[in-house]
Amino acid sequence: MLGRLARWLRILGHDVAYGPHLHGPGLVACARRDRRVIVTRDTRLVRDPNLPPHLFVRADRFRDQLREVAAAVPLAAGEAFSRCVECNEPLTSVGREAARERVPPYVFETQDRFWTCPSCHRFYWPATHHARMREELASLGLERSA
Ligand SMILES: [Zn+2]
Repeated sequence: MLGRLARWLRILGHDVAYGPHLHGPGLVACARRDRRVIVTRDTRLVRDPNLPPHLFVRADRFRDQLREVAAAVPLAAGEAFSRCVECNEPLTSVGREAARERVPPYVFETQDRFWTCPSCHRFYWPATHHARMREELASLGLERSA
């Protein structure tokens, strides 16, 4: 339910565990074990007086959700574009040659910095999708100087 929010928090560089396994007791156990703050829309869950630190999200739309989170935690503290948006793994910088066979030819010709995810092996580069993301963050008042 908060998948899009989770991806955006990762784009902002935050360590976000997210997945279908994380609900109810499993979610609470994960938060306790990893000392995470729970971000949830589960009204039943937040009635538990012993719930670890948590943030109850009211908004339906992800932009509003991101604003709610930004109002509660310092989102700008993360290093943007440093994590895989799918896996949450910190990205590893790789040499240009390593990207040759893995990215579209145009991207290879026009970019000189690449990162890869050690888990899913996706490649990342600071190109147009970053520009779009920066615009999105700017519209949310979350843009940092590049
Ligand atoms: Zn990944």
